[in-house]
This record gives sequence, structure tokens and C-alpha cells, in this order.
Amino acid sequence: QAEKQLKEIKQRVQDLTSEEYKTFERFKELPLTADILRGLDRSGFHSLTEIQKLAIPECLKGNDVLAAAKTGSGKTLAFLVPVVQKLVFENWSDMDGLGALIITPTRELAVQIYEVLLKIGKYTQLSAGLVIGGKDYSFEKERVGRVNILIGTPGRLLQHMDESATLQTDNVQMLVLDEADRILDMGFKKTLDAILGQLPAGRQTLLFSATQTKSVGDLARLSMVNPKYVNGNLAN
Ligand code: ADP
Ligand code: MG
Repeated sequence: QAEKQLKEIKQRVQDLTSEEYKTFERFKELPLTADILRGLDRSGFHSLTEIQKLAIPECLKGNDVLAAAKTGSGKTLAFLVPVVQKLVFENWSDMDGLGALIITPTRELAVQIYEVLLKIGKYTQLSAGLVIGGKDYSFEKERVGRVNILIGTPGRLLQHMDESATLQTDNVQMLVLDEADRILDMGFKKTLDAILGQLPAGRQTLLFSATQTKSVGDLARLSMVNPKYVNGNLAN
């Protein structure tokens, strides 16, 4: 029964057209599994923001997505919902290890994303972890090998990838670059390149940014395949 429902939802994702999803106003209109819809509902998230409405369906379809929308427009859920949903679609479990990597420029942003993820993912079986530096490195090191979704800042993430034998990146299905413009402004280009070089080529990449600068475009060319462009700034 559960398997049949999952199949139906995946089919709805495939059939969804942009004409259709542009009319959506609420999360529950999207083809999402019940566990995620419950997590969103219990967290008080009901209506879709513009970027969520436009980006979530394209991410669910498996496309690489390059999204621009100003600060405060709701980008966190625009990438967290597809990340959680994709792993649920694939029946991801503890045994599958790291399935998604989310990179953001600062500790504060990483913590914020983590807190939202814990809330909306509460009714799934997925586990999540933070690697942000400053905290106990050996605690992080022990934990990074066991989580399904990892959120981190570039420098600390690369350090774990280089030093923690337990952190396996060969099964990563999804990479999110949050605030990509700021990551580059802060001088993390080389660190990012080193991280990208260690991830499987077949992964899905979601790049979110407040602005579309030339360096963001260069990064997109390097890290994405046939990206869909989503602009949450045009509407409204
Ligand atoms: P951005 O990353 O684009 O700067 P955030 O994802 O941090 O924006 O969201 C900004 C604020 O809007 C947060 O307080 C968040 O809880 C709230 N928010 C985001 N999406 C929704 C939504 N669909 N419904 C209600 N509030 C939302
Ligand atoms: Mg943000």
C-alpha cells in the first residue's frame, strides 16, 4: 500500500507541468509524501513562497537547478523539501550513508538550516548532522560517518572529507550550494572546487543565490549539467 502510494506520487512528479505548478499556492498541492507534508504542516508552513513554488517541482523532477531569489524569500525550504523528498523516494536508510550535502557560507546559516531540517524531517527516518567548526572536532568526526544529510561550511567540510575515513561521499545523490554568491565572495572558491572534485559526477546539484554574478555563473558551469534557471525575483 505504502509502496503503491509512493509510486503514484513519483508519477505525479513526472507528469507535473510548469503551467500546473505555477498555479499552486500551498505545499499540500505539491506531489510530496505524507511524512514531509506533516512535518511542514506541524512547523507552521502552509503557503508556498514564489521561489518555493517555482523551484521545488523542478528539483523534484531531478533537474540541476540554478535559483536566484533575494534574502528572506524562503530559499531554505525551496531546497530542503526536495532534498528530503528525494531521499524518501529512494527509501534511503541508515545503511545508505551520506545522501545529501548542503554547503552554506557561515556557521549561523548552517545551524538555521539544520533546525528547519529537523522540524520538517521529523516524521521521516532520515538523520542529519552539522559540520561547522568551532565545536568539538572529534564529536563531529564520530558523527559525520553516520548521517544521511550533512550541512556544513566549506572549510570544515573539506577538512572532514580529507581527514575522516568514515565520511564517504561516493553515494551522494544531491549537492546544495546555499548562498553561492556569498561563498565565493568569502574566498571559498578553491575549497569548493576541492569538495566538488570528490563528489560523484551523477549527483543532482541545486545552486541557490541571492544574486546572479559572473562568478556564480562560472561555478554553475563547473558544477551543473543543463541547469534549469529559476528566478524568484521577477514575480511579485
Ligand atoms: P532566504 O534563505 O531566502 O533568505 P529563509 O529560507 O531563511 O529565506 O526564510 C525567511 C523566513 O521566512 C524564515 O523566517 C522562514 O521561516 C520564513 N518562511 C520561509 N518559507 C515560508 C513559508 N512557506 N511560509 C511561512 N514562512 C516561511
Ligand atoms: Mg538562506
